[in-house]
Amino acid sequence: MIYDYLIIGGGISGVSMARLLQLSGVESICLLEAGSEAGGLCRTRRIGPHVLDTGGGHFLCTKFPEVQNFIFRHLPRTEFNVFQRVSRIVIDGCEVDFPLESNLWQLPSSLCAEYLISVVQNGEARGLPPPDHFESWIRWKLGDLIAERYMLPYNRKIWGVPASEMDIDWLHKIPRIDVRRIVEACLNREFGREYMPSHAEFYYPASGGFQQVFDAIAKPVDKFVLTDCPVTTIERENPGGVLCVNGRFRARTIINTAPWPTLIRSPIFNEEARQAIGRLRHTQLVVSLHEDAYETDTHWLYEPDEQLPRHRSFFIHNFAPRSAANGIFRETNLQRWQAGQGEIHAEINPFAYPVPSRGWAASVMTVLNHLRPFGVHGLGRWGQWQYFNADVCIWEAMHLADELGHPQWRAGMQSQSSPILSV
Ligand SMILES: Cc1cc2nc3c(=O)[nH]c(=O)nc-3n(C[C@H](O)[C@H](O)[C@H](O)COP(=O)(O)OP(=O)(O)OC[C@H]3O[C@@H](n4cnc5c(N)ncnc54)[C@H](O)[C@@H]3O)c2cc1C
Repeated sequence: MIYDYLIIGGGISGVSMARLLQLSGVESICLLEAGSEAGGLCRTRRIGPHVLDTGGGHFLCTKFPEVQNFIFRHLPRTEFNVFQRVSRIVIDGCEVDFPLESNLWQLPSSLCAEYLISVVQNGEARGLPPPDHFESWIRWKLGDLIAERYMLPYNRKIWGVPASEMDIDWLHKIPRIDVRRIVEACLNREFGREYMPSHAEFYYPASGGFQQVFDAIAKPVDKFVLTDCPVTTIERENPGGVLCVNGRFRARTIINTAPWPTLIRSPIFNEEARQAIGRLRHTQLVVSLHEDAYETDTHWLYEPDEQLPRHRSFFIHNFAPRSAANGIFRETNLQRWQAGQGEIHAEINPFAYPVPSRGWAASVMTVLNHLRPFGVHGLGRWGQWQYFNADVCIWEAMHLADELGHPQWRAGMQSQSSPILSV
């Protein structure tokens, strides 16, 4: 049998792609998932009375109306709670609302003055051009003090890579607040929700965890999914002909959502593509569950202190009220992880963040440009090797469905629409 589409990886990218093809009338689809269950980073487990999102803190917020409609068509909006984001940074022994630079006024006044002086002396305020790597960019944008006490240690913890080795083409993830506004916020002592770069308000499923979103999209395409099927090789059977996966599954088109390094032994790669894959870097993440009573209203806390292995903590009950009142989960880069810190459960994500290391975009393009003429496409966080959230993965799947000549999924989407949350 030759499938029209073979999809590698059963995370949100893979199943959304399968679903969009199905909505467009395609039925010849096979999706191969390495694990014993699909879901990827969007999985949730119940551990005793706790809801644990095993891929770390996941919240729904999108600027794409089509993506929101797609999700709400599968899991109605009434199945979600909506939250005003409460996230804080632990800095100099204080907790300050995110983003730090527009809430410096929450620090004791002598500290606030120190930070403010550093901010107004930054490179941007002095009219210098933006630098081209992450460490210099942070100093240019936020000043040396915020860089040294918050951004550089926090980013060292999360990425495990010096900021000087990272590109700046992913920085839409970071607030862009100008110096004037930072000074005004201090003078007016006001909390500016509008300066959140994303997730100012977010949806979270009213029952269960984030996996509810995944499950709702995955259910109609369950029949296409084969689990416990790690793909190791892709090859062409004959020049210009059919593609073959693991020497067994044959297809006309392949959509890969799995990390490229897991496929590196594939005969389909030339040496240049193989070397490009070798340059791609990623992080591995431990998500650990802890029990500790809390009274905070915080959803999550950023913890730049390098004495602590973890970089973020999530207060589960504050966004999943049916989960026990004392559940906290923490995110720790595997390189820094130390077991036996009071965790009652821990999950390792072998692929968590694609690292925007210098030159990453050129490496990804080398791989994708090599494969596209053979009918092999990359999709999602790993297939496109980008710091995409789940909503962007769905958005990219929509684009790919269109590009492959299957835009009919749109017809089904028009029947429902909901207002978009501010992002
Ligand atoms: C800590 C953290 C917090 C996040 N927070 C948010 C958030 O708040 N909101 C949001 O929208 N997004 C968030 N994201 C991003 C979101 O998790 C991802 O964008 C999305 O889940 C990626 O989906 P994917 O299908 O591309 O990849 P994955 O979910 O990684 O799925 C890839 C799948 O491929 C399988 N696979 C791997 N290798 C092979 C192989 N060789 N053969 C077959 N199968 C294979 C894997 O088992 C997996 O199931 C967060 C991510 C992290 C790590």
